[in-house]
Amino acid sequence: SSGSAGTSGTRFDLERETELRFEVEAGERVQLELLSGLAEVFGSELNRNKKYTFGPGSKIAVFTWQGCSVSLSGKTEVAYISKDTPMLLYLNTHVALEQMRRQAEKDNERGPRVMVVGPTDVGKSTVCRVLLNYAVRLGRRPTLVELDVGQSSVSVPGTMSALCIERPADVEEGFSVQAPLVFHFGSTTPGTNIKLYNKLTSSLAEVFSQRCEVNRRASVGGCIINTCGWVKGSGYQALVHCASAFQVDVVLVLDQERLYNELKRDLPHFVRVVLLPKSGGVVERSKDCRRETRDEKIREYFYGFRATSFYPHAFDVRFSEVRIYKIGAPSIPDSCLPLGMSQDDTQLKLVPVSPGRDLTHHVLSVSSVDDDAEVGAGQSRGILESPVCGFIVVTAVDTQAQVMTVLSPAPRPLPRHTLLIMDIRFIDLK
Ligand code: ADP
Repeated sequence: SSGSAGTSGTRFDLERETELRFEVEAGERVQLELLSGLAEVFGSELNRNKKYTFGPGSKIAVFTWQGCSVSLSGKTEVAYISKDTPMLLYLNTHVALEQMRRQAEKDNERGPRVMVVGPTDVGKSTVCRVLLNYAVRLGRRPTLVELDVGQSSVSVPGTMSALCIERPADVEEGFSVQAPLVFHFGSTTPGTNIKLYNKLTSSLAEVFSQRCEVNRRASVGGCIINTCGWVKGSGYQALVHCASAFQVDVVLVLDQERLYNELKRDLPHFVRVVLLPKSGGVVERSKDCRRETRDEKIREYFYGFRATSFYPHAFDVRFSEVRIYKIGAPSIPDSCLPLGMSQDDTQLKLVPVSPGRDLTHHVLSVSSVDDDAEVGAGQSRGILESPVCGFIVVTAVDTQAQVMTVLSPAPRPLPRHTLLIMDIRFIDLK
């Protein structure tokens, strides 16, 4: 059903309820155009005769409920039509959630809180995006809670965040990220500090619940929580913790029957646990591919997304102007802990970092905490629970002059002076 459409690219004619899947080759761009009919990309509708551009490595599905014709130009690694998609099941899930929202509206209750779980590369983020898009297209205001610290769709890697969704995701760029609530986690796997991970999950749940109390639309809209692909041991416990912190009503388990059974066993009986198949279109990503995506996300933070270019600033920051911390002291044997202190305390402890060469290329979160806030052993709370107001990257350190050069989205001075160091590094090649 595909043929050449001359210089404008390759034409694909799709029957109803099928999708065109394609991957963009490294170093290439591919343009997509809807020629006739109706189609959507992960729940966002395509406009007719508009050219959508996808960058290297993009993995896209153009789905149609009614049938359509599209054209693709540029170098794709693969491009094929599949009739076998789980979209109808995803739509039914959306319909069930929408019924819960309607019921909530009637009964003056809160709307569905949904947690999406499964191993890596099963399409969790994609399912979240589809469900959020379908909800917002009906006028709902759901909240996206992003707990995937490795591949965040909201902010830079190493963060946990919440974002109120007010319009469908942009086909090329994803959800517009205005005023998200972002917390510093500091690394790309929850396992580096599971105590902090669980604590920040609770903080996000608390902020979300507070918002629901004062904002009816947010409450009815509910939330969709995207989680990490780590589903064993402490990773599994983190999912159970999240379900309880957010008081989730629905858990969507993608592609893993074992996880489905475990959650059914361990979560309260009123939580609906649903097993959904993954899409055959979801592509497994290599470690390198993941790292590139992370890098791209940081680059985007500083330089913007293609057309919307930002111009980051480079300036010097004196060591004396800032205080830099790492969260979590290295664990020590229980027997060596001071009286009355537990391992938990060490994982949530703020450890002052004295700037040195090894700070170079590290991403630092700028905490929104009051600059005058006292930081003692007992006061670390304020900083852990304060959202982040931005990020900088250390590009050079001069220990002699006691200054570091940073890359920042805004000109000097820094908005705040408490900085939290991430394990994550970014090398600015621009
Ligand atoms: P997870 O969140 O479970 O790690 P993602 O939702 O990020 O998985 O999906 C992994 C990759 O597969 C993404 O690049 C996404 O764009 C792509 N993808 C998802 N669904 C499809 C599909 N139906 N066809 C083609 N690519 C898809």
